[in-house]
Amino acid sequence: MRVICPNCGSKATITSREEQSAHVCNLYVSCTNTKECGATFVSTLAFAHYLNPPRKDTAQMATLLIKNLSKAEQLELVGFSN
Ligand SMILES: [Zn+2]
Repeated sequence: MRVICPNCGSKATITSREEQSAHVCNLYVSCTNTKECGATFVSTLAFAHYLNPPRKDTAQMATLLIKNLSKAEQLELVGFSN
């Protein structure tokens, strides 16, 4: 993960992290441009949203949906309708 110094735009190094909650943490960061800048700062890293849901969640969701169908509808879904 690349962090850029907000002051000079140089690469910066994450020195430590502090968990704020299950999906949010503060990153303690040092600018690598020590001669001209040398800033240290805190950036926040947060989970935003899934692009694809985890496989387990998808399978559980499908199972729940199928369980709510009648036996005939379940058979029709898998191609065993008469
Ligand atoms: Zn800097």
